[in-house]
Amino acid sequence: QLLLATASCDETEGSEENVRPRRLDDYIGQKDLKEVLAIAIQAAKSRGEALDHLLLYGPPGLGKTTMSLILAAEMGVNCKITAAPALERPRDISGLLINLKPGDILFIDEIHRLNRVTEELLYPAMEDYRLDITIGKGHSAKIRSIPLPPFTLVGATTKVGALTSPLRDRFGLIQRLRFYELDELTAIVLRTAQILKVSIAEDGAQEIARRARGTPRIANRLLRRVRDYAQVKGMNAIERELVSEALDVLNVDSRGLDWTDRLVLGTIIEQFRGGPVGLEAVAAATGEDAKTIEEVYEPYLLQIGYINRTPRGRIATEAAYQHLGMMEASRSRG
Ligand code: ADP
Repeated sequence: QLLLATASCDETEGSEENVRPRRLDDYIGQKDLKEVLAIAIQAAKSRGEALDHLLLYGPPGLGKTTMSLILAAEMGVNCKITAAPALERPRDISGLLINLKPGDILFIDEIHRLNRVTEELLYPAMEDYRLDITIGKGHSAKIRSIPLPPFTLVGATTKVGALTSPLRDRFGLIQRLRFYELDELTAIVLRTAQILKVSIAEDGAQEIARRARGTPRIANRLLRRVRDYAQVKGMNAIERELVSEALDVLNVDSRGLDWTDRLVLGTIIEQFRGGPVGLEAVAAATGEDAKTIEEVYEPYLLQIGYINRTPRGRIATEAAYQHLGMMEASRSRG
């Protein structure tokens, strides 16, 4: 219970749980990932073994936690959800490991943030299903090994490069989640609308999808905001025009960029003449946290080609100038 509470801390909507797909067939998009995992599930099941340890990486809100819960459902096991910042002391991770049942899944979000001691406890646990705990201190300290049931560690991270290689090497499967295509996001919006009993036209769902930055969590969040707007305006059917109106009010522009995205782009263009500029300088000039820019905002701006990363720093592209209605003449040359 406590663990689930930790897990839902970063979720902006308490009701996010209701709209999660429960089975692999309901999970929209990510074709390659689903194919790989379907095979892994079938093979593990027929051998009667636990799934291989799995590392999922990609920007937030793309469905890593959801996939972990689906794997547990497909394997018929439990999934315990936690996040690296909640695993501060050795006994936090030990407690979790000791209570696992054979085949269970342990999901650790933000796994690149594990501290060294916790990470080192995970090595033998992952490799040999063994927990090595130190009892006592100094000269009289002893290591006691406790056998663990076979289990599956599913790690999630936004930054695969930040994992140490011993940890990365212990995952049998390493899979990247991609931003979703427009038609996939439209399907997700329509599915969520059905669950929430919101009546929405296909073109309305498409408009939400277009502004959802390739991200299911954002699509679902925008749908909820549009639903509020429609309700307050006394509209029953949600069509494209209403969606545009609602999202304009919310400052989510035609490409789904919000205030912070535009601030980041505008800063690179206006204060740094379009770049190249280092991440830290952008962070300082915008007052945003560098990590947040790098892990939350930048991936989508890179994806849609509004910024480029070069060895000398970030550059705003012509598309960014056009989107913000700024003149490229101010760009520094050479
Ligand atoms: P992450 O763990 O990557 O941050 P989540 O798994 O929490 O993302 O997904 C965020 C929300 O987006 C979930 O509540 C779920 O409803 C929705 N979602 C994610 N992936 C999909 C998908 N493939 N199909 C349908 N809905 C999805």
